[in-house]
Amino acid sequence: MDYETLDPEDWAQTQKLAHALVDSAIDYTKNVRDRPVWRDMPGDIRDRFLTDVPKTATPLADILRDVDDTVMAYPMGNTHPRFWAWYMGTSNFTGAMADFIAAVQGSNLGGGNHAAALMDQQVVQWLRQMIGMPEGASGTLVSGGSVANLIGLTVARNTKAGIDIREEGLMALPAPLRFYGSDQMHSCHQQAMETLGLGNKALFRIRTGGDMTMDLEALKFAVADDRANGVVPACVIATAGTVNTGAIDNLAAIADFCHEQDIWLHVDGCIGALVAIAPENRWRVEGIERADSIALDPHKWLHAPFEVGCALIRSRTAHLSTFSLTPEYLKTANRGLAAAQWLHDFGIQTSRGFRALKVWMSLREHGVEKFGRLIDQDIAKGAHLSRLVEEAENLHLMFPTSINIVCFRYDPGGLDEAELKALNIEIMLRLQENGIAVLSDTTVHGQHCLRAAINNHRTANQDLQLVVREVQNLAAIVLKDTAGS
Ligand SMILES: *Cc1c(COP(=O)(O)O)cnc(C)c1O
Repeated sequence: MDYETLDPEDWAQTQKLAHALVDSAIDYTKNVRDRPVWRDMPGDIRDRFLTDVPKTATPLADILRDVDDTVMAYPMGNTHPRFWAWYMGTSNFTGAMADFIAAVQGSNLGGGNHAAALMDQQVVQWLRQMIGMPEGASGTLVSGGSVANLIGLTVARNTKAGIDIREEGLMALPAPLRFYGSDQMHSCHQQAMETLGLGNKALFRIRTGGDMTMDLEALKFAVADDRANGVVPACVIATAGTVNTGAIDNLAAIADFCHEQDIWLHVDGCIGALVAIAPENRWRVEGIERADSIALDPHKWLHAPFEVGCALIRSRTAHLSTFSLTPEYLKTANRGLAAAQWLHDFGIQTSRGFRALKVWMSLREHGVEKFGRLIDQDIAKGAHLSRLVEEAENLHLMFPTSINIVCFRYDPGGLDEAELKALNIEIMLRLQENGIAVLSDTTVHGQHCLRAAINNHRTANQDLQLVVREVQNLAAIVLKDTAGS
């Protein structure tokens, strides 16, 4: 051979290893319930991530064993039936196979005239249909919700700037722009505003009521006040499913207001946009289809392996004119590999991964109706856990559960706010450390609580009963420990 290559010298040997790898991957997924949700890594495992770059070759079999001993043995735990921290998806095996195939096929989804590029656009259109956005809307698959939101807010900024902001920049703005979101909106919006050069102060936080949704009177007041002061109200960021409590803003009323005021409506639907496919709960997101842009997250409620998010933009023209660097009047080649709209024209990446396949394969395998039922199921599990909490001694539901996020805490009475917080954090940490369940915590309107976000197609009711019992057991132990010390 007159060249060196990365291909194996012995394909038969690679085939054997790959077959064994598939077998153990199936066991790993099938038996996830039997492992602890999470466990901390001993020092010798941590040390293995501190070695220098390898200069020489290692047999693949040894490498795969190392991966088993380290990466596979100490996962984050979010594929486990009792992982309910922050807000994640639970992955699925078909999606994992898809990621493997996508890598084998190896296409760059920056675009071009090939099958994967057509599938990329097909998945965007499937997501558009699932949300109910009108035909003609465009979109792009991105790394996740944060980037999907950044894409939406960028199109909003450019459309509402009143100048050619791509050419002139922010300094040429005739008047400052204001964006509005509730005080419960995700932190990625602040990052987006900072990244866009608009700054955090241009993002007005509208207060929320007891149900944690945006107070519309406060929004109307803020917009009127800005107009009176020469500030241009550019964009309202409504949230369909807040990260703290799962609250869904009144999308229809906000859409009416934005329409009347000529303000861009962006919906952060990273949690809740897909409730639109859930028959029992879709009424909660009515009006979402009227948004100018929507961010959603197939790696959450479609359980695609990380990463895949999606930005949908009602106006394809506005979308392209924000990102495209190919002038409209220049046609791409009408034959050959470049005979297609470049997909990098819809966002900020040039090379793009083949994210569509994992969504496409599992949507085909199960059908969209099943994903809708799974969303209803998680929301029912949220209601079930809320009931268990209300019935359990010393457990208190902190906020009404809207969808699948349950905020609660252990309160034996007689403790002040700081002591309650310390107690509940200790319970949460011990739960994680004993591997039984992973919850996270948050503070909403000044009150600290534990938080279970049930975005999990593996959670059974017995898992919820177990965590309630375990929280009570641990509380008793922690209280005894504290009394003794
Ligand atoms: C998860 C989430 C995001 C961020 O999405 P990533 O996929 O983690 O980047 C944004 N907004 C809300 C409401 C979310 O729940």
